[in-house]
Parts: sequence; structure tokens; C-alpha cells
Amino acid sequence: MFFGEAALNRVSFLRSNRDFIKIALSHESTTFIPFINGEGLLDAANHDLYMCSLKQDAEIGSIVEKVAEAIDTPMGRCEITGVNLTFLGLDESNVTNSASPMPSSSAAAASASSSGCGSNCVEFCKGKYRGAPYFAIDLRSASSNSKTVVQPSDYINLSKRFKPISLLEMITLNNKSASLYSQAKMYLDWSSKFKFCPGCGSPMYAIEAGTKMACSNKDKSIVCNVRDSRLNNVCFPRTDPSVIIAIANSDYSKTCLVRTKRHMKDRNNNPIKMYSTIAGFLEPSETVETACSREIWEESGIKCPQENIKIINTQPWPYPASMMIGCVGIVDFNGSNENIDLDNDKELLDAKWFNTKDLIHAIDSSHQCKGFFVDFIDDIKIPNDSTIAFQLMNHICNKYKAINSNSNSTALL
Ligand SMILES: [Zn+2]
Repeated sequence: MFFGEAALNRVSFLRSNRDFIKIALSHESTTFIPFINGEGLLDAANHDLYMCSLKQDAEIGSIVEKVAEAIDTPMGRCEITGVNLTFLGLDESNVTNSASPMPSSSAAAASASSSGCGSNCVEFCKGKYRGAPYFAIDLRSASSNSKTVVQPSDYINLSKRFKPISLLEMITLNNKSASLYSQAKMYLDWSSKFKFCPGCGSPMYAIEAGTKMACSNKDKSIVCNVRDSRLNNVCFPRTDPSVIIAIANSDYSKTCLVRTKRHMKDRNNNPIKMYSTIAGFLEPSETVETACSREIWEESGIKCPQENIKIINTQPWPYPASMMIGCVGIVDFNGSNENIDLDNDKELLDAKWFNTKDLIHAIDSSHQCKGFFVDFIDDIKIPNDSTIAFQLMNHICNKYKAINSNSNSTALL
């Protein structure tokens, strides 16, 4: 799934190991994914997300050196350093078995009972964990106070050479880059917003290499149910679950697609008439199935009971921190269930039942369309295969094809 490739071994248990993080931060195999003010950078020359090693980008090398000691301490807060930094994991794809001597620069490795394995990877715990480390680093000094350790002048070349990457550019990248971006973006977005403790209002600071937040309040006379919690004294990144549902009738010959009120534009700023699937956030104490049933009725007026909903697949969506749970819902046509009524929450501009045959033609021809939008019928577009909406529409098409290629099949989910 686009944005969801497990590109790295996250080795979450090593995030709290300061020796490991120290080695990883300075190793020549380490890749940094720079963000400026919360957005990744487009490497236009290579048509990729900009990523670099310490050697490749002197500005990033200098910035990491400036802030490395403050990591996992209250002094590491973005308001002080001008930087949010998160360890993402180890890329194990280029690890070879021929370990070479530890690089002389990794002096800390010796005291940590670990060693390097050459320029290709970091080796830790006597070779049990090996790989090329990845970090995301968000440079935010321009939007914080002017006394930060890292200043905009420290990354002047970076900001001149690269521009922020847009969603329409992102979906044309390879899935590994997009998935690294997604992981980095979700952590950095959370780090930039979660500045104060929800228990007592004190400043929070990142721990475990940017993957958790702790309350900095040391005053025991001030009650803080985050710091004093029996279970833990930290806050975790949030991921917002949402449901996305493709709706069909019981023989899959009809598919309902909807058009939102949000104005869509292509790369050349031309308005786009895009139809897609219904989506909405999961609410507290809802099952995925009841949330789908509710969203379908609220947005389109169509009645699709929770028993007719089936979870198909999922997709992380880093705008900013969603986990989309993809479902298909079957509507039992009876002259009433399928009727469209857009007057409940008025979120949609339109909803229509389309012939699945037309959708099959669009999906089968989608490789001819460049970019995010795929031609459907008339001037209508659907989103491309980087989206879970496309995958769900494709699921309905495949069901329709299967039923109609075998007359003995039954139209079951
Ligand atoms: Zn607190």
C-alpha cells in the first residue's frame, strides 16, 4: 500500500538506548530526511524526496552536531534548539555479512559493546541489529524564537536548493520514499504541535529519540496526571483512525461514488471534477463497521447496515496523521435503501450510482493517465492507484468480474 511500505526495521526497543542513538547519529551510513517547517523537500534533479548523509550535506552535518547532546533532554525542545529530530529505524536492505573494522570516529561504540560494520551499516549488540539508520529532522527555527541553537542561516543553502514537496508530487514517487516521508511526517507533525503537557500545561520534551513526549514538571506539589500516571508518564504520537468505504449493490453491478465540496485542482491549477469513496473519522466507542454505516447514511442518505460492511485493507495517510481503514459496504436495493439524500450533514456536492462496468474500463486504462487523476466517464476523474479509494473501487470491480466470469458464483463479500 502506498505510504505504508515497511521500509525500515523500526527497532523500537533501541530508541531509548542512548549509546545506540549516539552512534547512529554520527555514522556515515546514516540517512537524514530534512524537513523545513514541517514539510519534506523535493529533490527535483533525482525526482525523489531529498535525503542525505552527514557527508553529503554539510549543513545537516553541522546542525546534527549542534543539537546531538540535547536529544532526549528538556534542552532538546524545539523552542530551544530550533529542531525536531526523530529516529525512524534501520534499513536492512544493504546489510552484508562481511563486517569490517569499526570506523575510528565511532569511539562511543566501543564503550557500548558494539561496533561498526563498515560504511554500509551500524552494528549493535554484537551484530544482532544491523542496518543503515534513518532520522527525520525538521528545521523550524524560522517559526520559533530567534535565539534557537539552530538559525535559518544554518540551512540557507538547503532552503534555496529545495522546495517543499506537494501531495501531487509525492504520489509520483516510489513507495519506499513515500513511506519514509509518511513515517517522518507523522512524527514531526506531532512533535511540532504537542508542546505542552495535557495534564498540567508544563512544556513537554521529546524522549526515546523523538518518539515519545515527557512532562518537564518537576514540582511534585503541582498535580499532573500525565507525569504521575501509574502506567506511564509519557504521551505517544497520535494516529487518527478514519474509515473509507466503497459502496456497491449486491451483485456489484452498481457502485456509488461521491464528490466532495472541496475544490480539486490539477498540477496546472485547472478545476477537477473528482468522484471517490465516502470517508470520515472514526468516533469514540464506534466499531469500524458502525462508523462506516453511520458515515454512509450521514453523507449520502444510503442505508447500509453494519452487517454488510467488511474491512478490506488499510493505508496510512500523512496529511497530517490519519490511518484509513478501507471497507466495502453492500447495499440491499429495495427501492428505499439505495436512495440518495445529501441533506443530512451536507458534506457532499454530489453522489451517484455508476455502472461498475464503466469503472472497470477506467481502472483497466488507468496506467495511461499520468499523475493523481484517472479518467472515468465524461469529464469525471477518480483518484489514482496510490490511494486506498482506488484499491477499494478495484476490489468492487474484481468482485464484479469474478461473479460474471462464473455463473455459479454467489455475490458474497
Ligand atoms: Zn504534566
